[in-house]
Amino acid sequence: VNADSGTPTIFDKIVAKEISSTVIYEDEKVLAFRDINPQAPVHVLIIPKLRDGLTMLGKAEAKHGEILGHLLYTAKIVAEKEGILDGFRVVINNGPDACQSVYHLHLHVLGGRQMKWPPG
Ligand code: 5GP
Repeated sequence: VNADSGTPTIFDKIVAKEISSTVIYEDEKVLAFRDINPQAPVHVLIIPKLRDGLTMLGKAEAKHGEILGHLLYTAKIVAEKEGILDGFRVVINNGPDACQSVYHLHLHVLGGRQMKWPPG
């Protein structure tokens, strides 16, 4: 999918429950579910249910401040639920050079093993 495209992604189908996922947390604004190809014992994706132009973080505008804050706070809720508050990582891949593959903004919450720094 083109990075600037307004076309729906697979995450819209996950929000609509047309594709099943293992939901960790959900409220009216966000959905958190397990990544299908986990890179750590805990690997959860957090997305805004409504993309609202946020194909990627680089498209953020001032009006997105509230949902961006809510997504980040949800990362803490997920880490708490998953028992990894002592060590977890939050990642946003932005664009092709960062290996973004789904153009619907999402946070990766990773943990449950020793992380390396810097990432590859
Ligand atoms: P990105 O590379 O865009 O930062 O991350 C996209 C993530 O979505 C990848 O880690 C990939 O494994 C995950 N993913 C892609 N398709 C699906 C799916 O259908 N279900 C779930 N649960 N995760 C998916």
